[in-house]
Amino acid sequence: MYRIQGPGAYLQGPDLINKMGELVSPLGKKFFVVAGGTAMKRYKESIEKSIREQGLECVFARFGGQSTAAEAERLSALASEAGCGAVIGIGGGKVIDSSKLTAHRLGLPMIIVPTLASSDAPCSSLSIVYDEHGAVSDVVQLGRNPEMVIMDSRVIAQAPARMLACGMGDALATYYEARVCFENGFPNAIGSAVPLTGIGLAKLCCDTLYEHGLAALEAVERNEVTLPLERVIEANTYLSALGFECGGLSCAHDFQDAVSVLEDCHACYHGEKVAFGTLCLLAVENRPEEEQSRAMEFCRRAGLPVTLAQIGLKENAEQKLRSVAHLLCRRGAAPNSPPPGVDANMLIEAALEVDRRGRGA
Ligand SMILES: [Zn+2]
Repeated sequence: MYRIQGPGAYLQGPDLINKMGELVSPLGKKFFVVAGGTAMKRYKESIEKSIREQGLECVFARFGGQSTAAEAERLSALASEAGCGAVIGIGGGKVIDSSKLTAHRLGLPMIIVPTLASSDAPCSSLSIVYDEHGAVSDVVQLGRNPEMVIMDSRVIAQAPARMLACGMGDALATYYEARVCFENGFPNAIGSAVPLTGIGLAKLCCDTLYEHGLAALEAVERNEVTLPLERVIEANTYLSALGFECGGLSCAHDFQDAVSVLEDCHACYHGEKVAFGTLCLLAVENRPEEEQSRAMEFCRRAGLPVTLAQIGLKENAEQKLRSVAHLLCRRGAAPNSPPPGVDANMLIEAALEVDRRGRGA
């Protein structure tokens, strides 16, 4: 069986936040809006206004700062007390995770309004739960994707360029990881064989990054909404999410998950570690030289890491990588499927080789 799933609707364009009321009106009458401090300050007034203009109601809740089980419980209690019929989450990754979990607990439609294009999480059916210290404690499979994702490209144009680059790093892995699953008959991230849609969207995602990635970064540096930026926002947020859920994951995410345990890598974002992991995947698979150097050059020019020092491993890198080897290439530990015949030791050797190349050594 093939399984294909994605968000009910994906809307993207400049100034959509000002039209929120009209956009979300098919999904409810009273909305519970979860927002972090910055989003609250910037967008509360315009969201409230546009929702009221449609004759609808909304109640705002300030996000507590960490996507813990207790936070989802607190938000769920507030939403049901207020009698809300749908949840809107506006902000970065953790607000999104918490809002998804809240909507899921209450069985309400979830509407996600990301303020960054830094990963493919907004459109996915996963919610990451953290403990109060910020360590990942659970990855909840919600079994459904958000009913609606609203991506305001003006908001993304005003966010830091580094965050767009992070999203490009996460999206760069999508095709190369899906290819491992597609070519070897491994399952995708939602437990089915990889359909053509999975590998096709993943390839489109990859081609879009190479074509428009650097121009999109320049647009964000100027805070301008341009066609290349629109293309890359779509690749980072939508194509990459469908690409990984329907296409499957492999060593790039395995690498990111393992090094995330190391204190040294905490200042580095998900997409940055995934980008380096992608270079390791291509190296361990012995892909053609042209393909490997294209990916490395792209990362270098986008400001994504090409050395171990750039992901935080400045000293004793090899020893530290070996200390997390037990987390790498665990066969059958879906959703990350390593290429056939590849083990943790080979992936670490590949990381050291990528690092040598990245340093020009
Ligand atoms: Zn990712």
